[in-house]
Amino acid sequence: MTTHSTFSARDAAFVRDFHTMSEFGATENGGVDRQAASVPDGQQRQWLTGLLEANGFTVRFDRAGNQWGLYEAVPGAPFVVVGSHMDSQPTAGRYDGAYGVLAAAHAAFRLVEQWAAAGDAGQPRFNIAVVNWFNEEGSRFKPSMMGSSVYTGKLALETALDTTDTQGISVREALDSIGCRDDYDGPAAAYCAEIHIEQGRSMEREGITIGLVQSSWAANKYEFVVHGEQAHTGSTVIADRKDALLGAAMLVVAARELADRFSGALHTSVGELTVYPNSPVVVPSRVNLLLDLRSPDEAVLAQADALLHGRIPEIERAANITVERSRSHSWPVTPYPTEGVELAAKVAADLGLSSKLVMTLAGHDSINMKDLVPTVMLFVPSVDGISHNEHEYTTDEDIVAGLAMLTEVVNRLCNGVLEG
Ligand SMILES: [Zn+2]
Repeated sequence: MTTHSTFSARDAAFVRDFHTMSEFGATENGGVDRQAASVPDGQQRQWLTGLLEANGFTVRFDRAGNQWGLYEAVPGAPFVVVGSHMDSQPTAGRYDGAYGVLAAAHAAFRLVEQWAAAGDAGQPRFNIAVVNWFNEEGSRFKPSMMGSSVYTGKLALETALDTTDTQGISVREALDSIGCRDDYDGPAAAYCAEIHIEQGRSMEREGITIGLVQSSWAANKYEFVVHGEQAHTGSTVIADRKDALLGAAMLVVAARELADRFSGALHTSVGELTVYPNSPVVVPSRVNLLLDLRSPDEAVLAQADALLHGRIPEIERAANITVERSRSHSWPVTPYPTEGVELAAKVAADLGLSSKLVMTLAGHDSINMKDLVPTVMLFVPSVDGISHNEHEYTTDEDIVAGLAMLTEVVNRLCNGVLEG
């Protein structure tokens, strides 16, 4: 590992904590596997509790499993909420989400220290809350961004808690098994900030350190169930087959053809196929398939969506199956508040960090939060744009620069810079 003699002791401590944190659920190839409410997710949450408490924060879990580190400098005032998520996809990278939570914690520690040193005149107007949102990834329990959706009132608590994974374990049971659910609703928020890796390569390509997220891509996510009929793969004549996997494969290809048709303006994918019975000599009778469409342009998304649904009768005929659309989850293109983007641009300039406006292609908890309170979303570069992959990487220089950036944004939010 490179040593950075230019890092301050605090920056070096942050990098050290980052590497310690990456041990939870570490995989052989340098990534992590920390799906929501799994054992490593629970261990990492405990570790975060220890870190927050050692720095004078009170830690609480809310009803939806979100982990809060609270510091009340101004009794009774609402909180600037800063954080991200520590859960991961299976065999994922170390930076996605986890970087944002640790950066939030260290930013908060620095501010609390500043306030302690500043005396009466240097007290903030708002308190600070570090948050580790539950189940942002949605790999084990769907939908994604679950904890922030409950906190912002977009998803009913009971619906979230009743959600089960493929083993039939509910969110309620999983959270209780790692001791991360309590009778608490979370603090009252005044503002929110989140920092995350870009998960794309546009910043790296242009040599930019800080991305100022101005809006999110729209997304439509579907679960389709393809119904066929179980049969012998040898003895059943082809004309008689109702092959659910063949129908699913046609949907996979149809999604890709749409992306090619709208080249660049549409991303589509099928990320999960569950084949039943998934047995060597059996024509599959059922396939559950998760398909998503994303675009920066809602008109393109609507057109692609209509084209996709238009293809379904054709696929049903060709594969002799039926396609049922079960769950769906979508969000529109939504801007982040301009005043937050302007604040972040000013902070980057004041700190001498290069910045540019970016859109986020991926979903983030801040997309929920920005509908509740003014929210600032920041990116640091991803080397080669690699994400949801064990080789995800951001340089130590960039994670440290992002921490400095986040600290100053949160400092100004706590001081009421956006108060009218
Ligand atoms: Zn993430």
